[in-house]
Amino acid sequence: MVYAQTEVCKDLIALQLKEGGPLLFEAEALAVEGAESERPRVRFRCEGDEGVLECDYVVGCDGFWGVARKAVPASLSREFERT
Ligand SMILES: Cc1cc2nc3c(=O)[nH]c(=O)nc-3n(C[C@H](O)[C@H](O)[C@H](O)COP(=O)(O)OP(=O)(O)OC[C@H]3O[C@@H](n4cnc5c(N)ncnc54)[C@H](O)[C@@H]3O)c2cc1C
Repeated sequence: MVYAQTEVCKDLIALQLKEGGPLLFEAEALAVEGAESERPRVRFRCEGDEGVLECDYVVGCDGFWGVARKAVPASLSREFERT
């Protein structure tokens, strides 16, 4: 089965609209805090305003240089490489 990226986006947007949570585009993550805790937070900026998301999970998909990678404590971090 192929679950295309566009379909993942559509499904996530539909779920968020159904559940009534905030749906933010073009938001810049400034920091992920409390990555080792039960309630991690994402500080972000969107349309000039700063906010904080209180989360159950944070999925860090912001690339190698993004803020999420830096938020994972070294003791909990594992790296996988394939050459
Ligand atoms: C020149 C070049 C050529 C490459 N060629 C190949 C190749 O041929 N084959 C291959 O398999 N791989 C290649 N790669 C590697 C590949 O591009 C990466 O491994 C892949 O893109 C990583 O995907 P990702 O989703 O983890 O991160 P990315 O694709 O980097 O996506 C991260 C996203 O997060 C966003 N973001 C970053 N910081 C923040 C923030 N603070 N707040 C909000 N959003 C943020 C970015 O705008 C971006 O949209 C190449 C990389 C480079 C640089």
